Amino acid sequence: MKRLLIIDRDGTIIAEPPDEQIDSLEKLSFLPYSITTLARICKEFSYSLVMATNQDGLGTSSFPEETFYPTHNKMLDILRGEDIEFEDILIDRSFAREQKPTRKPGIGLFTHYLSGTEQHRIDWEHSFVIGDRITDAQLAQNLGAKAILLQSSASKLHTTSRTDTAGLPIALEAASWLDIYDFLLVQERPQRKASVHRKTNETDITIELNLDGSGKAHIHTGLGFFDHMLDQLARHSGCDLTIRTEGDLHIDEHHTIEDTALALGEAYLKALGDKRGIERYGYCLLPMDEALAEAEVSFGDAEFNQQRIHAALDFSGRNWLVWDAEFHREKIGDVPTEMFHHFFKSFTDTAKCTLNIRAEAENEHHKIESMFKAFARAIKIAVRRDAGNNAIPSTKGVL
Ligand SMILES: [Mg+2]
Repeated sequence: MKRLLIIDRDGTIIAEPPDEQIDSLEKLSFLPYSITTLARICKEFSYSLVMATNQDGLGTSSFPEETFYPTHNKMLDILRGEDIEFEDILIDRSFAREQKPTRKPGIGLFTHYLSGTEQHRIDWEHSFVIGDRITDAQLAQNLGAKAILLQSSASKLHTTSRTDTAGLPIALEAASWLDIYDFLLVQERPQRKASVHRKTNETDITIELNLDGSGKAHIHTGLGFFDHMLDQLARHSGCDLTIRTEGDLHIDEHHTIEDTALALGEAYLKALGDKRGIERYGYCLLPMDEALAEAEVSFGDAEFNQQRIHAALDFSGRNWLVWDAEFHREKIGDVPTEMFHHFFKSFTDTAKCTLNIRAEAENEHHKIESMFKAFARAIKIAVRRDAGNNAIPSTKGVL
């Protein structure tokens, strides 16, 4: 499948002057890092480049072709000198008032990509429109692609209401082309996924984990409150998580919770692989109540310190749990409170991570829910990959 990078010209590759018409060589200047980034994209990635630009009234007396093409061709010459080739250059010549379907965000110039055999050869879901205007994001939406919006100082985004961007498939708002490169580099990396099937006489567990997901969860353990906690884990860590546990609940909840934690830890260990490029450490201070959170951060006043949840995590290759939490109820929902410690201990055993959890709260439900959320947020930080770094985060060279 072919992936396209559909790139706007003015305000994206080259600077757009105040009169929005680049009709002389004196007006030609490239945006910072546009040439070097496009060269790296062509060299390192497998996108096909398409240029798509609205040139109001091109070919009319207000914008004669002979004032447009010398500058346009000079720009292409400079780009070709760096091995940057566009497989297609789509120029709409109409004025906005004409409302022609060929003018962005219309897709009239893209019909050859949307019909015949070509439509089946393009991976629109993994194609991007790179531009500086809302119309570029709307074009992405109309094509079934995603948008990368470059917010340069000349960007029209600054004068556009944020509500205009609601619902648009904007994958990235970039401050510069360097951000665009980092983003595309991450797209190139395969998603980190793991499947675990753990079967004993007591439980039968299947787990699917995608560390690079979007927080989707499908959880069924037979314990409603436990499902709710694991759903929080997926949602707040950004991992996609599917868990199906058939446990011996006719005896009690113990094996179901313990074995699910063991299988879950194993899934994280497998999905992380050699841990190349990850942050490794994660932490979170997460009160349930926002007002308390502000008090904690801003004042450190003991009066407001009644509910405090702390989670710090290291995917170190060594298992360790530091636990500082007390529960005063026997159960929350259908889960015995003594099993919370057991869950996190079992997780650290198989994920081979160090985990510190501390919780203070009056409300027992808030306490454990906050712990899972803090745990999830700490995981989110720890498994995050730095775009510019592919090293194993240890002086030992192995984790
Ligand atoms: Mg533009």
